[in-house]
This record gives sequence, structure tokens and C-alpha cells, in this order.
Amino acid sequence: MSELVSPKQRSLQAKVIPAGKHPMTFDDISDNALSVLRRLNSKGYDAYLVGGCIRDRLMGKTPKDFDIATNATPEQIKACFKNCRLIGRRFRLAHIVFGRDIIEVATFRGHHEGETGKDNDDKSSKPVEKAAAISQRDKKVDRRERFDGIKSKTDTHGQLVRDNVFGSIDEDAERRDFTFNAMYFSAKDQSIIDFANGHQAIAEKRIEMIGDNQTRFREDPVRMLRAVRFSAKLDMQIPEEMQKDIKECAHLLANIPPARLFEEALKLLLSGFGLHAFKLLHELGLFNLLFPQLSHLLVDDSCRERKLIEKVLVNTDNRINNDLRVTPAFIFAAFLWYPVEERTQQIMYESGISEYDAFTIAVGEVMHRQVQRIMIPKRFSIPIKEIWHLQKRLTRRFGRRPYVLLGHSRFRAAFDFLEIRGQIEGGDLLELSQWWHEFQQVQPEQQKVMIAALRGGSNGRPIGAKKRRPKKKKAN
Ligand code: ATP
Ligand code: MG
Repeated sequence: MSELVSPKQRSLQAKVIPAGKHPMTFDDISDNALSVLRRLNSKGYDAYLVGGCIRDRLMGKTPKDFDIATNATPEQIKACFKNCRLIGRRFRLAHIVFGRDIIEVATFRGHHEGETGKDNDDKSSKPVEKAAAISQRDKKVDRRERFDGIKSKTDTHGQLVRDNVFGSIDEDAERRDFTFNAMYFSAKDQSIIDFANGHQAIAEKRIEMIGDNQTRFREDPVRMLRAVRFSAKLDMQIPEEMQKDIKECAHLLANIPPARLFEEALKLLLSGFGLHAFKLLHELGLFNLLFPQLSHLLVDDSCRERKLIEKVLVNTDNRINNDLRVTPAFIFAAFLWYPVEERTQQIMYESGISEYDAFTIAVGEVMHRQVQRIMIPKRFSIPIKEIWHLQKRLTRRFGRRPYVLLGHSRFRAAFDFLEIRGQIEGGDLLELSQWWHEFQQVQPEQQKVMIAALRGGSNGRPIGAKKRRPKKKKAN
């Protein structure tokens, strides 16, 4: 194998790792992905698996999704498959749809004019023979076509707002984020083309950017979240220098559309390594950008806000790792609970309205502020609000209320959350959650006794609420 130039120079040299010299084989690839690769190949196009599936396999993990890169344009891809739809604006992509399984196919991307990778192209360096042949072949199809006249474009922060310039496989590799993500698997001969010495980075557990950290973070600030995700998921350290660069660039996350941040937040928090990801995000100053309303509350390691987040994430990670269902609604409800409580107090203090009304206003306000940063689709924001409102309703246990609450579609999530709050805050809240725990276990007769037993004390009836008197019979 040949010596490589440093990926920092961003002019990469491909190295081919032949079949048998790496662990990836056809057995690791889904039938659908393999059929897409073969079809594109049979139509005369180059097509490779790329990115996470190779990285994960080289790390001994089972690949979860299969991304494909090809020199066919989206229209050419579409012409190859009946089950293809074209999506995206910022990155135009083809989705090949097999029922619920979707294989994403992207055309090789090139550099836009004036970009450093292109300018620094070191033509004098000598790639290995086969890789050189591949590069040459790809250069022939480097037509620099553009979709609808749209060029790659950066905004005033250096962020790429459009990126639809076609390129060669070499350029495509240079445009990828980390060195371990720039490996391409060929279905023709089961070889891997490693453009940035990614297999070495994997062996040494190194997260290494292709090119200059800060430039690449400015182009796409989401790469900072990706660095955190790979660090947490693959148990790799983010190098000190990159940590420093992330801290400096963290504020750029504010420029990312909330819908994209929602997707990234889910991948970070709901993939089985949420606690680790949270700690890193917080340490690197990224968490505050995602959840600004929590920034002044997460004051130290032992504050209740932090304990609550960590507890919820431990539970979530355990559930995911035991194949149990999780919902983003639960996590968001928990993360934003203390901001709702705090805002309720403020509103009551400022305007003197009842706790109930203040709470309702606070719920709306906190949600509204959060979706400015991370979009939360209605299918989650509605349950989040229900979980919050149920926290209040679960305190009122007189009459038929406990039975009605048990039948509420969000009872389970609300109770689970109450339990966690009880464990963190103790006192009345712990007693309340224990009461509900028992109420669900016991027989109906015993349930009646439990409700009756509350009558004696300050029993769940809202403070100040009067017992309803039977109506007086009208005198005839
Ligand atoms: P996962 O296991 O989460 O799917 P992945 O690396 O495959 O990890 P994807 O989001 O599926 O992540 O992206 C596929 C590939 O596309 C990446 O491996 C990387 O090469 C490239 N890529 C994705 N997002 C970016 C980005 N923001 N900047 C540069 N390259 C990216
Ligand atoms: Mg992927």
C-alpha cells in the first residue's frame, strides 16, 4: 500500500484495499442495496457503497443503512429504477424505495469554484495504479453538470446553502466530512477504495476531519453534531484541537434550519448512546444551542435539571438497547419540564393569575421558543403538552379522576415521567408516584380503599377546592 498525503491537505490519494484484506463482503450488505449497486453497474455506471456502512463494518458493527454514491445523475438514476423518487434541494438525492426500506443514492459531488480542496489539488502525487485508473475514469464523467442552473453556494458565514455540483469520485471523497467516512465499497470486486486513510483512523480510533476543521464546520455546522455522534456511538475521542474548534464554531448551529436539527437531535439522543452524547454536547457548548431555555438552568453537575436529563437518557438508552419502544415526545417533555415550571412561576409572579392559567401559558411559550431552534412536529408536540398537563392532573385523585386518568392514552408516559421526577425530587412527588404505582397494581376493591384513604388528609383535592354539596331539592 502506498504512503498517503495527510487528509488535512484535502487533496486525497486513494488506496485500494482488495477483497479479503478487509472484513466487508456481500454477506454484510442488504439484498436491496446490492441490487441497486448491480443495476447501476449493469447500466454502465460506477456505483459504490459509501460512508457509515463501511465504517461500522470495519469497526465490527452491523451496518444499519446503506448509502450509495454513483457517477449517474439523478435523472439517469431515475431512468434505471421504476421505484425511484428524487428528493431534496440542498442535496439532490435519489431514493430507491423497497416498501419500508429506502436506499439513498447520491451523485458524486464536486467542488464549487474557489473552494480550497479544488485549488490545492496536488496533481503531482502518485496514487496506486488501480486507484489512478478509477480516478481517470471518473474524471471523464466529471461533466460539472448543474441542476436547474443551481450552483453550490455559500452564505455570509461560509455555510453551504446549495451543493449540487457534480464531480468525480475523488472530489466526492474530499467533500465528505471525516476520514473514516470517505471509503467506497465496489460491488464489482468487493474492494474498498479508501481515500483519506480512513481504515487507519478507525484502527487508531481517531476522529479526523478531511480538511481544516473550522472551514468544514463553517461550511456545514451540523458536522459538529456529527463529530459528537460518532464519538459517542463509536467510542472515539474527539481530538483536543477539534474540541477547541467546535467550541469556537458552536454558535454557528443557530443558522441551521430547525427541521434539520430535529433529525440530528433524534440521531444523537435516540440511538442508544444518548447520555454520552448529551455529556459531550454540553461540554462542547453545543447543547445550549439546541436547548437555549436550559442553558441558565444547567449550572452544575448535581443540579436537578441535569439529573433529570441524565436519568431520562439512561432509561432511554436502556430501552433502546433492549429493543423497547421510545418516543422523542418523552425526551423533549422531560428536557423542557423545568423551563415550563420556571416560566409558570414567573408568569404567576408577574401577572398574579392562577397557577393553572400561568401553567397553560408557560406550556405554550416554552414550546414556541423551542421550535425556533429544533422543529418539533405536531405528532410529538401534542403528546409533549399532554405529558406536561398530566403532571398536574395526576396530583388530583378524588372521585372518579384516577380511573379516568388511567384510561388516558398518554397515562403511561406521564406516569413514567412522574416516577423519574419523584426519584429526583423526593418528598410529596415521590409519595405521589408511589401511590400511582400501587394504584395500578392493586385490585379494584383496593383501589377504592386507596382513594377513600386520601379523603382524610390533603388528599389530592386541589387546594381551595370545595366539596360539591348535593343540590337542595326545590320545594314544591
Ligand atoms: P450513520 O451510521 O448514522 O448512517 P453515516 O456516516 O452513514 O452514519 P449519513 O448521514 O448516513 O451518516 O451520511 C452518509 C455519508 O455521507 C457519511 O458517511 C459522509 O460520508 C457523508 N456525509 C453526511 N453528512 C455529511 C456532512 N454534513 N458533510 C459532509 N459529508 C457528509
Ligand atoms: Mg448512513
